[in-house]
Amino acid sequence: MIVSDLVIIGGGASGFMGAITAINKGLDSVVVLEGSSKVLEKVRISGGGRCNLTNSCWDISNLVKNYPRGEKQLIGLFNRFSTVEAFDWFQKKGLILKIEKDGRVFPRSDSSEDVIKCLTAVAKSSGVKIFTNSHVKKIEKKINGFNLLAKGNNYFKAKNILICTGSHPSGRRLAKSLGHSIIHPVPSLFSLSTTENSLKSCSGVTLNAHVELTVNKKKFAETGSILITHKGFSGPVVLRLSAFSARNLYLNKYQGELRINWLCMSENEVRNKLDLYKLENGKKVVINNKPFQDLPRGLWRALLLSLNIDSKLKWADLSKSQKYLIVKCLITKKYLINSRGPYGEEFVTAGGVSLDEINFKTMESKICKGLFFAGEVLNIDGITGGFNFQHCWTSGWVAGNAISVK
Ligand SMILES: Cc1cc2nc3c(=O)[nH]c(=O)nc-3n(C[C@H](O)[C@H](O)[C@H](O)COP(=O)(O)OP(=O)(O)OC[C@H]3O[C@@H](n4cnc5c(N)ncnc54)[C@H](O)[C@@H]3O)c2cc1C
Repeated sequence: MIVSDLVIIGGGASGFMGAITAINKGLDSVVVLEGSSKVLEKVRISGGGRCNLTNSCWDISNLVKNYPRGEKQLIGLFNRFSTVEAFDWFQKKGLILKIEKDGRVFPRSDSSEDVIKCLTAVAKSSGVKIFTNSHVKKIEKKINGFNLLAKGNNYFKAKNILICTGSHPSGRRLAKSLGHSIIHPVPSLFSLSTTENSLKSCSGVTLNAHVELTVNKKKFAETGSILITHKGFSGPVVLRLSAFSARNLYLNKYQGELRINWLCMSENEVRNKLDLYKLENGKKVVINNKPFQDLPRGLWRALLLSLNIDSKLKWADLSKSQKYLIVKCLITKKYLINSRGPYGEEFVTAGGVSLDEINFKTMESKICKGLFFAGEVLNIDGITGGFNFQHCWTSGWVAGNAISVK
């Protein structure tokens, strides 16, 4: 049996940060038990193989707004270890980072392998013992610590344990066995599918729009880049909406109503533009000539065809009622959402260990002394942009730090 100060269950982002912090702050023996044959697999596949490991959103009050669940709890955590500290931490460990125009932070090499190399090298040189193929099946609370049973009938003993099992159901099961309540896990960060097929010809088109999603009479609104797909809608603004409405959509079987203002303009602005254009371009065909430069030609055509506007109609002959229909279609077009589309490039689980049962100064359980949590196993998740890894670095760091001074 291996005996240590700390056993970390799960060799992912939060587990590694917890292990490195705890040992570097003075713990004698730290063990990481990873169930699969490789550590940091999610880091490897993240960000399309580039690993978007944090974001240059340095302001904590803005940063927490990127977390549909956990916003309140993260304020205190980020005050101790935030995006600035994470950026600095990796650079000091020799991983050179770069910030992209939209604020996302990647390794300068654009390779997630370099993040893995950095974390595993620092962990090993600090003395962290890593065991792969060591799925933890059972944890028993003892007077002075815990006994753990891992795959292959291997036993471990630890004064403290840190559960970092991500979205894997086994972590939630272990937490439950030690007395914790679990908020039912549901997917977050996905695209939306619609029954309507009038936009099929625009598949692949991206533009800025104001989007409102109504589910169960609750409205979620965002402005940003939207992508028309062959089945519906995706892109950053839709993924963000899906995250903030994840539970509502789940409860409503992914049915809702999406209203899109394709121009991000008011009704008056659109009407005035149409009137002026009509005056100056009376002889031109409506469907082939549009007053809005930024609106893709294919989308203009598709929207007008969905209104049954004659493909030969000239601007001079556009009636008042047709103009009214066009205005409404451009600024409040409704699409019925009938299901969840495939995930975006990044996806996470909303739900997990209930936040009421955690002391956020230390990440220790309020129910079971010596038991700590970090990362996605908790009911905390962010939108795309590096926010999910940031939460892992932060909670792993806070937990590792707290365990080392116990
Ligand atoms: C395709 C994809 C791309 C992503 N891209 C990004 C991105 O670019 N930026 C970003 O911020 N976020 C991204 N995310 C989200 C991010 O990967 C996760 O939020 C993050 O990895 C969670 O880290 P974690 O340490 O909590 O858990 P994980 O990284 O999931 O690690 C948990 C580990 O625990 C192990 N484990 C589970 N149960 C047991 C057990 N009983 N015993 C032993 N080991 C166990 C698992 O095998 C796993 O290795 C992406 C997610 C996906 C799926």
